[in-house]
Amino acid sequence: MPRPDKHELSTLSFNTLSVHGGNEIDKTSGAIRTPIVMANSYLLPEDPSTMDWSDTQTPSYTRNSGHNQICLQRKLAAMEGGEDAAVFATGVAALHAVFFTFLKSGDHVIVGDVTYEAVWRLFSELLPQRYNIEATFVDMGNMDAVRAAVRPNTRLIHTETIANPTTKVADIATLASIARQAGALLSVDSTFTPPPFFRPLALGADLVIHSLTKYINGHGDAMGGVVIGSKPLVQHIKADALVDLGGTISPFNAWLIMRGSVTLPLRLKQQFSSAEVIAQSLAGDKRVAYVTYPGLESHDQHALAKSQFAGKGYGAVMAFAVDGDSDMQNRFVANLKVITSAVSLGHDESLIVHVGGSGRGGSDRYPPNFQKYGHLRLSIGLEDTEDLIADITTALDATFG
Ligand SMILES: *Cc1c(COP(=O)(O)O)cnc(C)c1O
Repeated sequence: MPRPDKHELSTLSFNTLSVHGGNEIDKTSGAIRTPIVMANSYLLPEDPSTMDWSDTQTPSYTRNSGHNQICLQRKLAAMEGGEDAAVFATGVAALHAVFFTFLKSGDHVIVGDVTYEAVWRLFSELLPQRYNIEATFVDMGNMDAVRAAVRPNTRLIHTETIANPTTKVADIATLASIARQAGALLSVDSTFTPPPFFRPLALGADLVIHSLTKYINGHGDAMGGVVIGSKPLVQHIKADALVDLGGTISPFNAWLIMRGSVTLPLRLKQQFSSAEVIAQSLAGDKRVAYVTYPGLESHDQHALAKSQFAGKGYGAVMAFAVDGDSDMQNRFVANLKVITSAVSLGHDESLIVHVGGSGRGGSDRYPPNFQKYGHLRLSIGLEDTEDLIADITTALDATFG
């Protein structure tokens, strides 16, 4: 039976798409799962002299268009509800591809004041100093502040749906209308909020970026990044940032991410519901100084999160601290037996990282509680909720006992 083609993919429901999207029966072997094609090059047509060497549609050279990369792009575009996708070696390569493709010297960008560390450094240091690109860091919880930051040369508004690590929530529909009025693009790093949970393109975002390293692969064993959007925008990114900058994903990692993403909707359901219970449990414990999680009523943008995510959940990442100094945070983490101390998030296993009070850009970017106690970023995995709560309670007892 032939697999659904690209057109038909859009008619499949999400779970079905997660299983079948982008997968092809191998014509040579009959294998029903797309094999890993490690070849660097593909057979050229009879007369290659008239070929467009920047073409990224037909497999020719793996930097531009490897077989596994093309299958993964098809799947991810369909999952996010976009026309096309460009995959990269990492999430940061995907973010940089957007900035490199659409910004030039003299342009202005509005960026969330809480943002992934690499994005912070790109816009606070590297792009302004080397390429004369101006950036204003704005509170993405305050739409008036965003409106006030717009300049005649604003070309891009970049935000995270739920910001890493403070969990500040951005109002994507309002940002899209501000960007449209300003004649700027809206790019959304939706790593914390993958489909089917949330789809920024449907609310007017121009480009959606994911670190595939996180939820979409979900198993902590492959890195990747993707940009999804309209055909013309994604073609522009491929032509400039994939063909001529490189940063291409390996066929093996593309294949691993194809496999990992099969269970994405099932994993999100478990992780998001577990996270809500665990955030409530932390918030109710006197030994915990604070918890930020969009599902808690105490969260600044709880009402926005509730309406924007249509009651489907609030993600599975939270930040908190135990009531004590930096040594106490470390002791608490050392007392955990199930939850692992490691960076990254969205893996099958729960991960915690003691980040301290400030990110790379200085402490004033984060709320007062973060500065006072530091923060632990906790990403909820697929373990049983009761085991995670027991692990946290036992570690609190051992730390404060
Ligand atoms: C991890 C992460 C990235 C970077 O992704 P890599 O795959 O590690 O390069 C970007 N944005 C967010 C929100 C992330 O959590």
